[in-house]
Amino acid sequence: MIALTLDRIADITRSRVGGPARLTDTVTGPVTIDSRQVAPGALFAALSGERVDGHDFAAAAVAAGATAVLASRPVAEPHLIVDGGDAGVVTALGRLARTVVDELTAADVVGVTGSSGKTTTKDLLAQVLGALGPTIAPTGSYNNEIGHPLTVLRADTSTRHIVLEVAARGIGHIAHLCSIAPPRIGVVLNVGSAHVGEFGSRAAIAQAKGELVEALPTAEDGGVAVLNADDDAVIGMAARTRARVVSYGRSEQAQVRARNVELTPLGCARFELWLRGRGTAPVELRLVGEHQVHNALAVAAVAAEAGMGVADIAAALSQAGSVSRWRMEVTERRDGVTVINDAYNANPESMAAALQTLTAVAQQRRAFAVLGHMAELGAVHEAEHERLGQAVAAAGIEGLIVVGEQAEPVAAGAESVSAWRGQALRVPDAAHAVAALRERLRPKDVVMVKGSRVAGLERVAEELISGE
Ligand code: ATP
Ligand code: MG
Repeated sequence: MIALTLDRIADITRSRVGGPARLTDTVTGPVTIDSRQVAPGALFAALSGERVDGHDFAAAAVAAGATAVLASRPVAEPHLIVDGGDAGVVTALGRLARTVVDELTAADVVGVTGSSGKTTTKDLLAQVLGALGPTIAPTGSYNNEIGHPLTVLRADTSTRHIVLEVAARGIGHIAHLCSIAPPRIGVVLNVGSAHVGEFGSRAAIAQAKGELVEALPTAEDGGVAVLNADDDAVIGMAARTRARVVSYGRSEQAQVRARNVELTPLGCARFELWLRGRGTAPVELRLVGEHQVHNALAVAAVAAEAGMGVADIAAALSQAGSVSRWRMEVTERRDGVTVINDAYNANPESMAAALQTLTAVAQQRRAFAVLGHMAELGAVHEAEHERLGQAVAAAGIEGLIVVGEQAEPVAAGAESVSAWRGQALRVPDAAHAVAALRERLRPKDVVMVKGSRVAGLERVAEELISGE
């Protein structure tokens, strides 16, 4: 991060310096809410969370070298006090981030939103842009008003790209996140039915996600909206932005396209990347699943805007691996059983993508799907789970194991397809799923494990791999 004196931080965050602190003491980073991540020169932001109160760790943080503690109540150590409790601390972090990002004019902020694939695309983009210059991106899904400032504050004068995952919890949320770190380039991947329970409808989700392109600068000021041409709700957002629109997808109209897409025997996509007016280059992704083509195209569109040539983009895309855990992690056991761990989360679109990946990887081998429920679907819970079950049955795979009561309509849906009646196995939890698989699996079978985060199905995949 760039060095800031306590005096300056107090000014930016409208906080008061107190305790044994001097106004000239300097914060050199990191800014963190986790006292275990404190290093000399850190600013430790104390949040009084539900289980532990960060203020109780103020002494430990300063002992570990923190210059000061950003707090909402006085502590004995050098501190900056804000009003308004935790919300006040979060606001202060946002103000600090905004000042720093405005100062770092050489760093381009790219925001990525969508219902599925934000983290995957963010990770891919960070690797590709990293080939061009120093790039900062959060680890995992750090995608809210706390994660954004902490990520942005890692940047310094050498930083060229800041890649942010922008999540929408409700109307106005993305607009707020964009006020903390205003993106020059905004990517919208897709509008699915994830969180439809919270938002009420797909149109409402599109309304919320479109706030990203509304926040972009004008085309004259360099604003670029990167939109999925194959998703009506996304390409429709072109009308809501003053930025220049770059479209990507498989459709003919798209400016960034994938041509001649095919899957390798490992289930990775191979295609010809085509950039309008800039030529073509061959790509072979290391990420599994045909749905990754769209994520890769979004990355290619941004990289081209950042000045990368088509050959360099294709080479970087072909080298990029997966970074964040439990998303399409493919492991081959010694007995030839392939385990696809996609247990990070689930919604109808990513379930469809995972099912397609399972059959693509399996080819002639026996395929098993171990599925937990998809959370946050509200009124469409039952219908979406039944539809998933029908899709599983139609995919012609060998076995379906449905985990937990909330996923029950998946089994019912599968069994409503006549050829499949009675073939779904219902188990109460991950441990029973593992036991059932141990009985059934034969060498060279393929197993795909997926469900919402709360279903905790990564344990199934991990035990299948470790307990071989
Ligand atoms: P979250 O909202 O939980 O942060 P996310 O948008 O960051 O999710 P990822 O973690 O990248 O999404 O991926 C979640 C799931 O979606 C994974 O199962 C992944 O394989 C799948 N997925 C990734 N990209 C796409 C896509 N373009 N279309 C459909 N599914 C996708
Ligand atoms: Mg994510």
